[in-house]
Amino acid sequence: MLNCTEELSQNSLHESIGRSSLNSKHSRVPLSRQPGGVIRNGILQALPAEALDELAPYMQRVPLKRRQVLHERNLPVTHAYFIERGLASLLARAGDQCMLEVGTLGCQDFAGMPVVLGTSRTPHRCVVQVSGEALRIAADDLHQAMNDVPALRQLLLGYVQASTVQSAQLVVCNTRHTLRQRLARWLLFAHDRVEGNEIALTHQFLGRALGVRRAGVTTAMGRLEEAGLLHRGRGRIVILDRAGLEAEACECYRAIRSEHGRIVCDEIAEPLAGTLRAVRQ
Ligand SMILES: [Zn+2]
Repeated sequence: MLNCTEELSQNSLHESIGRSSLNSKHSRVPLSRQPGGVIRNGILQALPAEALDELAPYMQRVPLKRRQVLHERNLPVTHAYFIERGLASLLARAGDQCMLEVGTLGCQDFAGMPVVLGTSRTPHRCVVQVSGEALRIAADDLHQAMNDVPALRQLLLGYVQASTVQSAQLVVCNTRHTLRQRLARWLLFAHDRVEGNEIALTHQFLGRALGVRRAGVTTAMGRLEEAGLLHRGRGRIVILDRAGLEAEACECYRAIRSEHGRIVCDEIAEPLAGTLRAVRQ
């Protein structure tokens, strides 16, 4: 398991906190004027156009760098992030020297549930695992927007419900299902949240995500590779047979996906196909 001192970069943390002073309402650039002004986040895609228009001036497109701390445990949550690309982990303490993943966030997710629930802190750390991009909004602005835009409030509360169901299902999964099933479930979940078929992750990280030693992940991964379902490279995994992986996974994957799909857009569409909603110019 990964030592938490390795994961927590003080520079990243200070950088994250320091950005709050830059988030002046008058200096924000509307999404429509920013490069790549296309919405890829499933939650935002599910918003009615007029609600998205109200929210857009308060959001800023920011890069997500690997190991960047978005939220530190027990410190004020200054911003929420609608993830557009990349993956982030919610980590919970599991002893003095290690932390385990209790949630995986990608382009169908949102980092900032304490804001939705009206609290300012969380016992979990949120760390970027795969670099990408997010639409960031100040906590105060999001709180105000939830009051002003009922559709946004309803959607985010629905997301909280889906996350609660997911947490409960993962308790069942970790208790009853094999490592191979759980690994397939985790890979499918990540595959839903990245572009393409390649996931940039190490066996060490997967061990932490699944709460097992790296050697166990390597063995289970090897069996999935022998079955032709994936290919392992240096620091990356390529999904070759998604249907086969779904057949390997336990039913928890479908249970979690079903609940989440009721709340947000269930498909990751291709920008060039014109199915994504561009912010109005
Ligand atoms: Zn399961």
